[in-house]
Amino acid sequence: VFSGLAPQAPDGLLALIGAYRSDPRPDKLDLGVGVYRDARGRTPVFAAVKAAERLLVEGQDTKAYLGAEGDVGYLEALRPLVFGARAQADVFGVQTPGGTGALRLAAELLAAGRPGAKLFVGAPTWPNHEQIFEAAGVTLATYDYFDAASQTVRFEAMIAALATAAPGDAVLLQGACHNPTGADLTKDQWRTVADLVAERGLFPIIDLAYQGLGRGLEDDALGMRLILAAVPEALVAYSCDKNFGLYRERTGALFAACDHPQRLSKAGSNILALARANWSMPPDHGAAVVRTILSDSDLATMWAAELETMRQRLIDVRAALANHGPDLVALKDQNGLFACLPLTQHQVGRFRDDHAVYLAGSGRINLAGLTVEAVPDFIRAYQTLRQP
Ligand code: PMP
Repeated sequence: VFSGLAPQAPDGLLALIGAYRSDPRPDKLDLGVGVYRDARGRTPVFAAVKAAERLLVEGQDTKAYLGAEGDVGYLEALRPLVFGARAQADVFGVQTPGGTGALRLAAELLAAGRPGAKLFVGAPTWPNHEQIFEAAGVTLATYDYFDAASQTVRFEAMIAALATAAPGDAVLLQGACHNPTGADLTKDQWRTVADLVAERGLFPIIDLAYQGLGRGLEDDALGMRLILAAVPEALVAYSCDKNFGLYRERTGALFAACDHPQRLSKAGSNILALARANWSMPPDHGAAVVRTILSDSDLATMWAAELETMRQRLIDVRAALANHGPDLVALKDQNGLFACLPLTQHQVGRFRDDHAVYLAGSGRINLAGLTVEAVPDFIRAYQTLRQP
């Protein structure tokens, strides 16, 4: 078996971590890995998470299995946060190992329910999107999404590409804080996409992995809710790994939304069957933490305030970049952890070699790797690199 395998390239970002660690330069900057960092470069555990964990250690009286749907209280607690006032009965949820697990289930459900359907993904998008859906046998197509030189969403090209989708094809949309570009759709653009998706009978899969880190908890869910209101059925892949800082606890959920009870129950039974075949039951801890926080008003308030501090820090770094770099002005209107700079692979290499700044080969930077104080030096290096 092993000799029949083709070697696989290691994940580029993981290789970057290794190179960064062994770089002795004291002022080196890691803008590669996609986790939040505070101004001291740490990715701390939320105080609300620590408090919830203490309650769990004291109160948990069994480690017996949960069902395939995971922690039902967690799913119930997430619903208003994610879906607002949408009727509970119209949404089916299952807990998943991270947003990645949710996407994998979404991919398998799509392949099972609509064999042969194409999935339209943005160019660019989070690279793992392509791997996850292809691994489940889904054929991909792309829609243009972003122009790095002008730092704008290529909205007309996006709409033109989606207009070529056949009825029954699927489209993957990122709900907020677009990875890797930071460029989200405006409310009007979401409306246009919702109309188009509804009109052409496309099946939306919405990836919401950064709720609360962009324009705020409610606003970051807005585009997704507009799509859901326009279509008869959709999937939402959700992650709590960023907005609760739970990363390694692998805390996510897949939600199916449909206002036709029988179809929703068919989707639900298939999602549970796929979950059983993948991991049988999800890990407990992260979801138990989220449930504990969201069902305690003091902890929920504490969590929301911590999340807001993170969001504000990202806004401050964006403002500093926009102030110092005339060609980075657009970054202050973008959201979340990431921005995609118009750099060639060669320039990314020189950023690392000449300036000890580490970023993904695509030109993606994690803004949380910067401090407001580090911005002027960063901009100077960036402008040196961009000189012809
Ligand atoms: N979707 C997007 C757009 C992401 O950036 C990520 C994480 N990098 C995920 C999903 C998956 O998140 P998780 O760590 O919860 O699997």
